[in-house]
Amino acid sequence: MTRKKIVIVGGGFSGLGVGIELLKRGITDFVILEKASQLGGTWRENTYPGCACDVPSHLYSFSYAPNPDWSRVFSPQPEIQAYLLRVAQEFGVMSHVQLDTEVEEARWSDDAQKWFVRTNRETFEAEILVAGAGPLHLPKIPKLPGLENFGGTYFHTAQWNHEHDLKGRRVAVVGTGSSSIQLVPEIQPIVKELLLFQRTAAWVLPKPDHAIPALEKALFRYVPAAQRAYRSTIYHALELVQLAQRRPKAMERLQFLGTGHLARAVKDPELRAKLTPDFVLGCKRFLLSNTYYPALTQPNAHVIAQGVREVTPTGLVSADGTHHEVDTIVFGTGFEVSDPPISRCVVGRDGRTLGEVWGGSPEAFLGTTVSGFPNLFLMLGPNVGNGHSSALGIIEAQASYLASGLEQMARQDIASLDLRAEVQARFNDDVQEALRDTVWNAGGCASWYLDVNGRNSAIYPWTTIDLFRRLRRLELSHYEVTARARAAKSPAQPATRARVGA
Ligand code: NAP
Repeated sequence: MTRKKIVIVGGGFSGLGVGIELLKRGITDFVILEKASQLGGTWRENTYPGCACDVPSHLYSFSYAPNPDWSRVFSPQPEIQAYLLRVAQEFGVMSHVQLDTEVEEARWSDDAQKWFVRTNRETFEAEILVAGAGPLHLPKIPKLPGLENFGGTYFHTAQWNHEHDLKGRRVAVVGTGSSSIQLVPEIQPIVKELLLFQRTAAWVLPKPDHAIPALEKALFRYVPAAQRAYRSTIYHALELVQLAQRRPKAMERLQFLGTGHLARAVKDPELRAKLTPDFVLGCKRFLLSNTYYPALTQPNAHVIAQGVREVTPTGLVSADGTHHEVDTIVFGTGFEVSDPPISRCVVGRDGRTLGEVWGGSPEAFLGTTVSGFPNLFLMLGPNVGNGHSSALGIIEAQASYLASGLEQMARQDIASLDLRAEVQARFNDDVQEALRDTVWNAGGCASWYLDVNGRNSAIYPWTTIDLFRRLRRLELSHYEVTARARAAKSPAQPATRARVGA
């Protein structure tokens, strides 16, 4: 058994952000457990052609680790992965990383006031557990009848098969989300035929992308204030998008950006009709691309505006019964969001997993703490997501919330903090009420923001400015506090209420 004050699960941007925050505060007694052989999380996993961030790179980076050398406004995946590894080195996190270590179970013990984290290698005992395993982690391939008998090759965008050369092949791409629309223009010129299976047409807007000139890079390198001002401008402009998304009517007024973009690129009325979305802009994450529509106008590209009914040994059958012969299927069909793997192995004080407590509708307080799971801190947990800004800002804010909790625990000799059930309930009532009339809930689409029960458990309905303010300090009054001197409740503690599931 290895003792650590803090165990962090996941070596992506979340785990890294927490590690850096701890080191900044002089806390070194922690380990980051990463199941793969390299850090990187989503940026290590996703290596499909065209993979890039659709948030501008100068915002999609840690505020304390600016990178003046981003090559483009929206930098490609290899550059983001290289940035992540460089930051991990520079901030001294690597010596706290344990690779090839997969968490099998993390169980809270009320008696010990500790987490027991069993991995494929050893078991850790920790005061604090941080779950930074990523909300978009487990690739989702639909259970299509006949898939197991497909005679060709199939894989998911997040598990790209680099051994399988697409040159000259008949390739089906299933799905039209962020991943597919980045992929399609990259592979269309090399494949023989591209068949895009589109169940729902997406909103695609012009992408304000370009290579960043050397002069601009030099300015950012030698005048850091200029880079900060640029970052701040992007951040605040994107916050306005968030405000608009609260009102479907406002988003409808912006739809001309998408319809104009489509009309300029696609002259064929039949194809244009197929590619025209039937829901309000913003209901699903809107996509940015200047090359997606032009790729679909090429003679070897075919849009099948239907879902897939079944797979045969030689191809796919679309919903109308037509058979389409292909030798490769690429699934850009998204991720398991409602029931991520981490929720199946974290066991709280009443012996149930997060997944069992959630029942398909994840909920937390500020996306970070969950009643019944003392000293557990989720990174990018439920209802802190957004379709407009950088996840890294949220990670920084959550890491400082955790650090604020740790400082108070140390100062007041606190063994554990368990979120009060009523605080969680009130917060989630407010979130759901605020989401009700927003474009994500009322925009006429079914997106991955809505969980298996139809509840929006992904989006934070207010601005990130508001979220960051609320995450600045952990309020002890939101928690049931257990003093370090064995299980007795702190005397300053108000009367407790029943815990979730207790
Ligand atoms: P996604 O947005 O969930 O899109 C999945 C696509 O697959 C949708 O078009 C969906 O159709 C389709 N689909 C799912 N099941 C299907 C089935 N059985 N038959 C036919 N079509 C099916 O997944 P994603 O593109 O991987 O993106 C997920 C998230 O990852 C994004 O929203 C974003 O947050 C993140 N991401 C970000 C970037 C970036 O640049 N920052 C890049 C890639 C991904 P329906 O629309 O009809 O459901």
